[in-house]
Amino acid sequence: MPGKLKAILREKLTKKEISPVPSSFDMVGNIIIFSDFPKELAKKEKIIGNEILRNFKHFNSVFKKTKKYSGKFRTPKLKLLAGIDDKKTIHKENNVRVKLNVEKVYFSARLSEERKRIAKQIKNNETVLVMFSGAGIYPLVMAKNTNVKEIYGIEINPIAHKYALENVKLNKITNIKLFLGDVKKVLPKIKEKFDRIMMPLPKGAENFLGLALSKIKKNGIIHFYSFAGENNYGNIIKIINHECEKKKKKCRILNIVKCGQFSPRVFRVCVDFRVK
Ligand code: SAM
Repeated sequence: MPGKLKAILREKLTKKEISPVPSSFDMVGNIIIFSDFPKELAKKEKIIGNEILRNFKHFNSVFKKTKKYSGKFRTPKLKLLAGIDDKKTIHKENNVRVKLNVEKVYFSARLSEERKRIAKQIKNNETVLVMFSGAGIYPLVMAKNTNVKEIYGIEINPIAHKYALENVKLNKITNIKLFLGDVKKVLPKIKEKFDRIMMPLPKGAENFLGLALSKIKKNGIIHFYSFAGENNYGNIIKIINHECEKKKKKCRILNIVKCGQFSPRVFRVCVDFRVK
């Protein structure tokens, strides 16, 4: 559908005006969000938004980001271009439904393939920890698509946590335990150790690596997210090795996967590593 956008604007805009229209945007439930809406199209943004809604009937609103993901909760600021000013929606992916407010909670629909990649690795009866669980999307995808025993999720944003609790019910799941608070305060109080730990906080996950290493079972796997330049993973590996040495643990890198783009030359990467 993003590919068709320029074509549907031909009736309303000139070739010159169409040229900077972004060819990609996010689709979250019935909401469309432009990340980088060009400033020079400010006067045409309503027309563009309305044309999108006229042509793609299953969407209710078009927003543009006026501020990218920021702050501790990693949330964006949005401005309505067309349609209903309602930021709440229900998004479907990987056999789950996730309810959220797109401005109050971090969510990236673009990571659905990454979530599928992780779910495929989960073995029967594993106990998994998802640090920074947001509206619960990783725990939900794991619970619905694998034979995982139990999933723990910890999230500091109270609104995201509230949605996560609601989403567990919405998807009729019984093996997810959710905790509200700072991972650094909540996790030390949890007695369980885990077969697998997810760390989906690319900006700053390294500050939680020592804690993750103290909570992973022998031979368990950690999925560590970070930002890096193309094929420039040396620094991340160095951080992981350094934290493992501090905890006197041996680790083996299993995969380094590019799973998204942060800016033109910076990518979201996931390093999967086993802890001996
Ligand atoms: N896992 C979710 C997802 O993929 O949609 C959310 C990922 S988002 C990049 C990072 C999340 O970590 C945010 O929801 C933020 O509120 C939460 N967070 C940040 N610092 C935290 C902390 N110290 N303890 C718990 N959660 C934290």
